[in-house]
Amino acid sequence: MSPSPKTASKPELDFGNAWEYAAAPEGTKVSIEPKYGLFVNGEFCAPRSKRYMDSINPATEEVLSKVAIANQADVDKAVAAAKAAFPKWKRLKPSERAKYLFRIARRIQERARELAVLETLDGGKPIKESRDVDIPEAAKHFFYHAGWADKLDYVFPGRKGTPIGVCAQIIPWNFPLLMAAWKIAPALACGNTVVLKPAETTSLTALRLAEIFQEVGLPPGVVNIVTGAGNTGAALAAHKDVKKLAFTGSTGVGKELARNLAGSGKRLTLELGGKSPNIIFEDASIDQAVDGVVQGIYFNQGHVCCAGSRLFVQEGVMDEVLARLKVRIESLRVGDPLDKNTDLGAINSIGQLATIKRYIEAGNSEGAQMFQSAAKLPKHGYWCKPTWFTDVQPSHTIAREEIFGPVLSVMSFRTPEEALMRANNTPYGLAAGVWTDKGSKIFEIASRLKAGVVWCNSYNRFDAASPFGGFKQSGFGREGGRQGLLSYLELKS
Ligand code: NAD
Repeated sequence: MSPSPKTASKPELDFGNAWEYAAAPEGTKVSIEPKYGLFVNGEFCAPRSKRYMDSINPATEEVLSKVAIANQADVDKAVAAAKAAFPKWKRLKPSERAKYLFRIARRIQERARELAVLETLDGGKPIKESRDVDIPEAAKHFFYHAGWADKLDYVFPGRKGTPIGVCAQIIPWNFPLLMAAWKIAPALACGNTVVLKPAETTSLTALRLAEIFQEVGLPPGVVNIVTGAGNTGAALAAHKDVKKLAFTGSTGVGKELARNLAGSGKRLTLELGGKSPNIIFEDASIDQAVDGVVQGIYFNQGHVCCAGSRLFVQEGVMDEVLARLKVRIESLRVGDPLDKNTDLGAINSIGQLATIKRYIEAGNSEGAQMFQSAAKLPKHGYWCKPTWFTDVQPSHTIAREEIFGPVLSVMSFRTPEEALMRANNTPYGLAAGVWTDKGSKIFEIASRLKAGVVWCNSYNRFDAASPFGGFKQSGFGREGGRQGLLSYLELKS
């Protein structure tokens, strides 16, 4: 088995002609099939369930395509394909596995424009984010893990790591292709095979990735993609031949999966929700900090697990921070995600918009003071203005629960001890930000924040070499770096 490029077989040819989305920026044409089947054993196939769901462009409410809903029989077929492919993939020379990963990374780069437009159409995020973050970072994850494939002995120095088997991977809708890359790349590098389930509102780029797997000649069954909603995910997680589940999503579903899998012998890693603090001290560079706050909460419409949704400002600079924040927020452009000047795109789904509105109502009814930018919203589609609340109490719902939208809660503090106590006063522990001019304060505060990632004088920066994951109810296990490989290997001494 060595990588040999071949022409991708068209998904579901008998469903009619693809249509091309011509309105994409810079003339990039993206063809979208009217219907997509499942990707099993290296081929696209109609679901045994015969059922499909709409994939909607949240900026226009247009139906982009229909995507298969996999049932138990479909999941069985995909897991059987992954199980059959495992012995050969596991025995493949690691340097050969690496070649496949390199080729996938290269094809993602070569098809980057198309993937970026498709991601933006399907998910609503601004094209500048898909183009500059999601797609290049997805390619980087494959490059990075290609490098590890033949160096796994360094993961457990002096010991032997062996692959686990069939890995079920379930991902959310906020970074669809990037989350697929975070999951698939380390699993394959370690010699496992995969059944991936994308989120129900954003399956299109994962299916496009399947075309790339065909193009690079990835052996059939090594990665299988089953689309569908929660029932499909539950069937996949419970399948007896799945040896490991990697889940990224809400804390509620993560807890349910942990309960269901207890005693099953399956390995489990959970990347869950967050309510991350972003702390500005009086000695910080305020302009830089305010930029970081905007990046922390309005990037990807706030649909970010590590969003800096709780802002803590030291009392002496509160007025200055709020004044500058207001100016910055008013300058954010909300609207057409395909416009390269857009800062905030569409909310991913009508359901998520309803959730965000409920939280905004709660903020108002519990006594916080709301501000919203004067941005004009498009008539169609799902939109939310950049929103921030002051006079927020720690007991308020908007200060405690994950909103997963462009809504910031601003609170004040007097001393570093108070900042730490309030920042850590949450059931979550995914990320945190610290803004200060003092190096010693950075080390002290960062070491005492209970969060898996702490950014200092920056926010929302990612690197494939840097392990990402949470404390407390934000989950367990890490993705990225050497530590991310540990959850895809069994250890032998
Ligand atoms: P979700 O939990 O509703 O869904 C996530 C995925 O799980 C989807 O593919 C969904 O179809 C599937 N699913 C739903 N119910 C299931 C069940 N009972 N069994 C198996 N699978 C099931 O979450 P979401 O709304 O798609 O995503 C938002 C959440 O994800 C937020 O809480 C966010 O913080 C979290 N998230 C975490 C990270 C991280 O790395 N920690 C990254 C991105 C998103």
